Amino acid sequence: MSPSLLSNAGILTINAGSSSIKFAFFRGGQSLLRTVSGQMGRIGLPGTELTVTDVASQHAERTPIHASDHAGCLDPLMEALEKKGYLSAIQAVGHRVVHGGDRYNQPARVTPDVLAELRRLSPYDPEHLPAEISLIEAFSRRHPAWPQVACFDTAFHRDMPRVARLLPIPRRYDAQGIHRYGFHGLSYAYLMEELQRLGGSTEANGRVVLAHLGNGASLAAVRGGRSMDTTMGFTPTAGVPMSTRSGDLDPGIVAYLARTEGMSVDEFRVMVNTQSGLLGLSEISPDLRDLLEREPSDVRAAEAVALFCYHVKKAIGAFAAALGGIDTLVFAGGIGENSAVIRARICEGLGFLGLELEAGRNRAHGPVISTPGSRVTVRVIRTDEELQIATSVARLLTGQPARPEAERAGTARQARG
Ligand code: ADP
Repeated sequence: MSPSLLSNAGILTINAGSSSIKFAFFRGGQSLLRTVSGQMGRIGLPGTELTVTDVASQHAERTPIHASDHAGCLDPLMEALEKKGYLSAIQAVGHRVVHGGDRYNQPARVTPDVLAELRRLSPYDPEHLPAEISLIEAFSRRHPAWPQVACFDTAFHRDMPRVARLLPIPRRYDAQGIHRYGFHGLSYAYLMEELQRLGGSTEANGRVVLAHLGNGASLAAVRGGRSMDTTMGFTPTAGVPMSTRSGDLDPGIVAYLARTEGMSVDEFRVMVNTQSGLLGLSEISPDLRDLLEREPSDVRAAEAVALFCYHVKKAIGAFAAALGGIDTLVFAGGIGENSAVIRARICEGLGFLGLELEAGRNRAHGPVISTPGSRVTVRVIRTDEELQIATSVARLLTGQPARPEAERAGTARQARG
């Protein structure tokens, strides 16, 4: 790859979920500029659809496609990009890879060796990794000349202190790779770069708690730019309650439900990943907006919202203890970026940490939502995992800084959620 990548090239980013693929196309230049984004949803189900959005005009085109699995989405995607005139500009592909195991603390160019390691890690995350691997393989077959880069959600936390990584189960399991990995690493890496840009080195190197609160939610404790702890664990099911995931639970519940209801391990896995959290407790919706609307009249909605805020608050308190205090708290993700009322409830009672929100700034969603006198600076930062992937690809393949500041500073992005 020549160092000219940034001056004339395109980077395609691919973010594969269990039944969807999100993608974006970035043009190189002085800075990376997103020109197209989109997604393919309902993969493997009736009604699979490809949506391509022109970022400048926000015009979205929807096309029904036939794709029985993730790899089957590649042809329709390439056809759509060709129609828009982007295909010939693609010089590299960056993939979000949920699990990088113990080996990767930064993005890696895909080689046969990296693919072999991902296959070995597949049992750690059977819902995402097999689909991600099949997409990487499909790109290699169809476009062998395009370099591919794997960007791992676990990499940000790879060098956490051992005391935060170890799980209190028999020691032999640690040797088998069963320890805390943590996730949302692309978002956290992006937020830390933004913190450096917005607050400078002193703030970015201070005691920082990052709260990525979306459908999936986690928090990270960061000091000196390094992840010191995080709420998710061996899988993304751990930590604070989420839209449909339970977060941390008493492990005794597994045995109890097996004994009393004959619940299988697989049924338990489905329950704690898809039927728990806000949805499970409210019996109404996994979406916090629905629950906020219903809470005045429905105690189940009110309790689910209260539980979410309570657990996020507790995690902030725990990380304050782990870091010896907090200098900066960052809210991000669909909930963290858009819900002033949830941010206020989470921060209520954290005055003992020297944290004081300013109501007007909070309603305006930042950028800084704490009072000038607050000892903790509280920020709202719009996270951007796709841009982080594209930036990583450009850096890895050219050795040059990707300077994505221009797009970040021009905050023309749509509010999420
Ligand atoms: P994902 O984790 O799937 O990337 P997002 O980070 O986009 O999800 O977050 C989506 C969630 O954000 C929605 O399910 C919704 O609960 C929440 N959300 C978005 N906007 C608001 C809002 N204005 N108020 C409360 N919650 C919101």
